[in-house]
Amino acid sequence: MTAVLRPGLVGEELVDLTRRLGEPARDLVILAEGNTSEMIDDDRIVVKASGSSMRDAQPEAFVCVDLAPLVELLRDPDADQARLTAELTAGEADGREVRASIETLVHVAVRAVAPVRYVAHTHPTDVVALLSSTNAEQAFAEPVYTDELMTLGRPLYVPYAVPGMNLGRVFLERLEAYQHAHGELPSLVLLGNHGIVAISETAAGAESISLMAVKSARVRSGAHAFGGLAPLTGTEHYFDRPDFASRRAELAGKGE
Ligand SMILES: [Zn+2]
Repeated sequence: MTAVLRPGLVGEELVDLTRRLGEPARDLVILAEGNTSEMIDDDRIVVKASGSSMRDAQPEAFVCVDLAPLVELLRDPDADQARLTAELTAGEADGREVRASIETLVHVAVRAVAPVRYVAHTHPTDVVALLSSTNAEQAFAEPVYTDELMTLGRPLYVPYAVPGMNLGRVFLERLEAYQHAHGELPSLVLLGNHGIVAISETAAGAESISLMAVKSARVRSGAHAFGGLAPLTGTEHYFDRPDFASRRAELAGKGE
């Protein structure tokens, strides 16, 4: 079976990260929105189960899935939603069927490109507002303050696709193109009309990226309300500066 219930494999750090991102005051998710995952070895991730809330996360609310069959599914043009659902079903607990999140393929796609430890997907109201606007694709195209540039790097924009097979495919395609262009994964992926994906080697990094994305959205909304946005210019060379590069690596949890 591709998906199984293995609460013993769910790390405390992942559960804590999930709960922190689910805190109502942060407004990143409500109800059963959002999901997190951790890569636990070369072949598997644990990912939040469908229908569970992030704020009340428990080890029992995660499902362990094998990456290889899901990467294969993602790359199979004939794969359909029914096959995905079957692959994500992990059995029953307390008389209810437990299934990995419908958005599991987003988490799988990241690991199809590189073995990153943490992925956190949320729907922050402030960010979704910009990503649902007519200028969604351009909303984060240019940095507007230095800390944002440091924490978020160059965000990747992915246009809206229906969660499940469609989103998984579009997401993987854009992620691979980004990796090809920049030689690394983005820290932040913006999903049009949907939400964000934070990618980091550490739980603290995934949390920082998520929170900075919200701040960045608020700064943009404020600037637009106050006459328009004045982005930073000439920032490309920042990425070549050793101090900037090492701080970026630290935030991503990659060390020097
Ligand atoms: Zn989502």
